[in-house]
Amino acid sequence: MADRTKSERLLTFLLLPAIVIAVAALVGVMFRSSFQLEKLREQSVVEATLALANEKADRLDKRIIEQDNAVASLVDFRDREHFGAGWLKVAPIQTPTVTAVVVVDLGTPDRDVVAFASLSPGPEADRIRRLLIHVMLPEMRLDPPREELRHLHKSYREQSLLVSYWQRLHGTRPYLVAAWHDVPRIVHGLFPKLYSETDQQSRVNVVDSEGLIVWGPPLRAGGPTLGRQFETTLYKWRLNVAMTSADEIAAAVARRRVQEMVLVGLSGLVVIAGLIVVLVAAARERKLSALKSDFVANVSHELKTPLSLVRMFGELLQSGRVEGDEKRRQYLQIIVSESERLAALIENVLDFAKVERGKAAYEFSDGTIGDVVARAVEACRLRAERDHVTLDLKLAESLPIVRRDERAIEIAVINLVDNALKYAPDGRLITIAVWATKNYVEIKVTDEGAGIAADDRRRIFERFVRGKSALDKQVRGSGIGLALVKHIAEAHGGRAWVEPAQPRGSSFIFTIKASPRSGEAPSIAIPTPRPTMSGVSPLVNERK
Ligand code: ADP
Repeated sequence: MADRTKSERLLTFLLLPAIVIAVAALVGVMFRSSFQLEKLREQSVVEATLALANEKADRLDKRIIEQDNAVASLVDFRDREHFGAGWLKVAPIQTPTVTAVVVVDLGTPDRDVVAFASLSPGPEADRIRRLLIHVMLPEMRLDPPREELRHLHKSYREQSLLVSYWQRLHGTRPYLVAAWHDVPRIVHGLFPKLYSETDQQSRVNVVDSEGLIVWGPPLRAGGPTLGRQFETTLYKWRLNVAMTSADEIAAAVARRRVQEMVLVGLSGLVVIAGLIVVLVAAARERKLSALKSDFVANVSHELKTPLSLVRMFGELLQSGRVEGDEKRRQYLQIIVSESERLAALIENVLDFAKVERGKAAYEFSDGTIGDVVARAVEACRLRAERDHVTLDLKLAESLPIVRRDERAIEIAVINLVDNALKYAPDGRLITIAVWATKNYVEIKVTDEGAGIAADDRRRIFERFVRGKSALDKQVRGSGIGLALVKHIAEAHGGRAWVEPAQPRGSSFIFTIKASPRSGEAPSIAIPTPRPTMSGVSPLVNERK
């Protein structure tokens, strides 16, 4: 037994930290996987943003190159005179951002301009032509392969200039064809068309080589902002994309993480609380089983003592060696009272067993209560007289009708009076009072004993629990009397408790709920003293 307790304790001490560690490990794993998920999510947001930036930057290049191809298809070296007129006709539709086209003869030392057409004639056309020939042409790459379309993007006097150009051979003569793109038109016409989308998922801007915004709103720092230079056309500029949904996603993820943390924390708490409950229950169960073994020992002892007395005096009488009627009567009296004691104990144990199994067969009926209490008191009177104790029954004049099990009420009162006799041996008076409050009838048994320690007052109503008063003075008992009283009180809609009495002693009180159809009971005829009652006998536990 001791070994088992030891191993159980060891198990408990190992189990508790093991479960706490397991819960902590679970929480750790959950956090780690949640962080990994978050990283993956961030990575995929970055990848998506980058893909978007690529796609948007390519869109511009494509649009400009489409126009360049349209210009290229219009160049006819055999009819250079009319080339300009042909392009001008289709320019607004086919090449909306090209404002001038020039054809240069690369075969001449001065690189003569052989054709020039502009959408804006006059000084603006002259300016473009000058810039084309003197600023842009010197920087163009004129090495082979000759047919390749190239772009020159240049900042000049705080302006951004863009020229698309390619070389063509006519016979053996090399020519240069260049299309002048009007950058402000690209910024104010093409950018909005290409990038002002309504998807709300992303925001776009374009910045120059110094990072100054050329078009679009400033992008908020926070979510990932990724950008890419335009690959072929406006290659000095950069297109930036910010996923506006990234912030929302991040907020949702943060919210979910908090929820998960709370959930995991709560689950951990539930596991630990459950464990504590199980451990407490196990400890309680252990205590109870110890109390039960005490109970069995006490009951056996209580059964054995009267039984051996009955046997001893029975054998004495049977042997015929007892002389004198008085002696014989005395022995017979002992046999009778010890048998009563046995019957009472068995009765109590059986009742208690019924209560324990939850089917105490109460037989309720509406009726008076005073006479029931009086009968119980009378059952104890003989023993009280023997102990030189007076039982004083005080019944209130008008008591309501109650719904009660007479036998159960008698058992409760007998147990309380019997306890008063057992535990208050110095007292001379035990008072049993019955009176009515608004909804209850209260039954109070007061003794003049030493009282009950405060920390014992609640415990003693628990089954098998015996108080200091019993253990210190080695009074015999089983620890079920008060548990029975409590059960009976509760079965009658009331409760049971103990309080200190003045000037000394204890008052045990139990209440019974008054019947709803309560009326006043007729006055009671207190029965005359009688030694026993059929079916109800006091639980007589003699002092040692
Ligand atoms: P038992 O008397 O068999 O021990 P009970 O349930 O009747 O079991 O009582 C429980 C405990 O309450 C007793 O062991 C005793 O310590 C205490 N007790 C009961 N009645 C009294 C009393 N009148 N005065 C002092 N202590 C009491």
